[in-house]
Amino acid sequence: MSVVELESVRKEYPGGVVAVRDVSLTVEAGEFVAIVGPSGSGKSTMLHLIGTLDRPSAGAVRIDGHEVAGLRDRQLSALRARRIGFVFQQFHLAPGRPALDNVADGLLYAGPSRAQRRRMAEDALVRVGLGDRLDHMPHELSGGEKQRVAIARAVVGGPAILLADEPTGNLDSASGAGVMQLLSELNHGGTTILVITHDQQIAASLPRQVSMRDGEVVCDDGAVDARSAVPQ
Ligand code: ADP
Repeated sequence: MSVVELESVRKEYPGGVVAVRDVSLTVEAGEFVAIVGPSGSGKSTMLHLIGTLDRPSAGAVRIDGHEVAGLRDRQLSALRARRIGFVFQQFHLAPGRPALDNVADGLLYAGPSRAQRRRMAEDALVRVGLGDRLDHMPHELSGGEKQRVAIARAVVGGPAILLADEPTGNLDSASGAGVMQLLSELNHGGTTILVITHDQQIAASLPRQVSMRDGEVVCDDGAVDARSAVPQ
């Protein structure tokens, strides 16, 4: 099943900058994809479109089978809260709240009771290797640990897709490698993951690389169709 379907998508900002032009992209469930390109190539705009934080100027965006153009803002927020997990370079944890609450808050829109939320949050923190840091405040955690908490928060509700925006950008190389390893483990467990990065080395370590230049996809290596195609 396709989790992300962009069809001839264009995004033009007021003032006339075309940040994304005629991009078509399909991501199947279970994929682990890098969107890679230099600064200004349109990666963040793609993240906003796929994350339903922004609507396209033209073309179609379907996320988890839902056509974004057909949804009202409230429905879009619900889709985002329930089906998309976000991880950012700056972690965006709530200061002064223990790791467990930061992760449990990821379920606020999903409906489970407080006790269930806390149980699920604990499970997610154990999964990212932080079972012994449940009560630590963000300022008591290392950068790598903060990003693990953010990843636990992003996956605790079982999203259709995890969107990670430069997830290792604020980390030293060892912590960064650990975070990429964790993402790889989550992907092997079935989570569909899309990583936005300017780092060619990180992109090259993933099974599929979608390269962007000047708002266009200039190369798509390792797409499911290409992988399953029989050489002539
Ligand atoms: P990247 O994430 O690869 O650095 P962006 O998607 O942020 O690229 O930007 C793509 C282009 O769109 C750039 O030329 C940038 O200046 C422009 N841009 C991004 N956001 C806005 C905005 N809100 N308003 C106008 N132009 C924008």
